[in-house]
Amino acid sequence: MARVITHEAAADPADVLVTEAVREHAGALADAELPAYIHDLDALSRHAAGISSALPPRVELYYAAKANPAAEVLRTLAPHIHGIEVASGGELAHVRRALPDLPIAFGGPGKTDDELAAATDVHRLHVESEHELRRAAALARAHGRTVDVLLRANPPVDVPGGPAAVPLAMGGRPSPFGMDPGALDLCAQILADEPALRLRGIHAHLASGLGATALGSLAEHLLDWAAKWAARNRVDLHELDIGGGMAVDYGHPATHFDWPAYGRALAATAAHPDAPVLRIEPGRALTAYHGWYVTDVLDLKHSRGQAFAVVRGGTHHLRTPAARGHSQPLAVLPRHRWPHPWPRPAVRGEPVTFVGQLCTPKDVLASRLVLPGTLRIGDRVAFAMAGAYAWNISHRDFLMHPPPTFHYLPPRENHLDQAGSAT
Ligand SMILES: *Cc1c(COP(=O)(O)O)cnc(C)c1O
Repeated sequence: MARVITHEAAADPADVLVTEAVREHAGALADAELPAYIHDLDALSRHAAGISSALPPRVELYYAAKANPAAEVLRTLAPHIHGIEVASGGELAHVRRALPDLPIAFGGPGKTDDELAAATDVHRLHVESEHELRRAAALARAHGRTVDVLLRANPPVDVPGGPAAVPLAMGGRPSPFGMDPGALDLCAQILADEPALRLRGIHAHLASGLGATALGSLAEHLLDWAAKWAARNRVDLHELDIGGGMAVDYGHPATHFDWPAYGRALAATAAHPDAPVLRIEPGRALTAYHGWYVTDVLDLKHSRGQAFAVVRGGTHHLRTPAARGHSQPLAVLPRHRWPHPWPRPAVRGEPVTFVGQLCTPKDVLASRLVLPGTLRIGDRVAFAMAGAYAWNISHRDFLMHPPPTFHYLPPRENHLDQAGSAT
């Protein structure tokens, strides 16, 4: 179900899709440095500041590290967020090294004893099952610690439009994530007699890919349900973590999740007199927009009437389009050098499919795009929206091509400082 993106989707793709700093940096790289992942930390910082300022005071913003755990990204987000959500012992150790002072929430299914033992001092432990709760309690006791927990719920709350309407449904249907109400009740009973664990509230991350209106109404329903659950079990609901999943539309790169509208919806929910602290933990919507995978066109060919551009690298570096079945938005950065005595192959005004160097028909980055200009061998191509679930979800060793290089463009003040022209 790869979508066809024509140039109508973005009037001037190069301008919409690539920041000035990234364009400049991409142009200055040597061929041998391609493919390159380039992150614009200045733009990321401004994006995160905008999200943070759209949220009401009683809402805490955590970042789901699995979207992009690069230390440079984490440190750029740090001033704008309350904490980090991690989902493995590996992420836990990595985030502690990168940001020793930021609160950490540790969630995810299938935690091992070693992971639970390493997590006895996290800010919040998100518990996924009764068995996990009992093991966490035993390990907390063994370490002489009291662990603050949220119980992860799979509540009887409908995902707006139904689970089939979102790209990644994790609740609202049979799911390995979270617990049914009966299991939650049992956990509440266990916790009543367990001094090594302190129940702080409920966690529920139901789906990824929802718009602001849908997520806003989901928050209200979740609070309603969680407050009733807590009352029925005679426990205090201090906190409600309503997860991430804010939509990112790869077909419309300039259209972002409506954070101000979501912030207003959460403010209304948080205004309820007994409302707990609300917490959200977006991943994709925070970091997708500020990473680019830049490469160059190695070959252009026609096969039975269709044009193919073969780029250096491929889905072993940028698996996102293969994983989601979309065309990764891209902009062409033309190059003028052509060192060969024969004519330079080019395509113009016809659909082009961008593929990588892997020997598999699944190595497609974008299908049948009609570009606004000419594409030539040797041109550079910047695949946009590659800042989340991109490099870190990719099968990087398949075919043993060299890895990409990584570039983190610092916040603008630093550019000026280095140039000695700061005012
Ligand atoms: C993956 C995940 C997130 C982040 O989801 P996004 O769609 O990237 O916002 C948040 N919470 C949990 C529990 C997750 O598994």
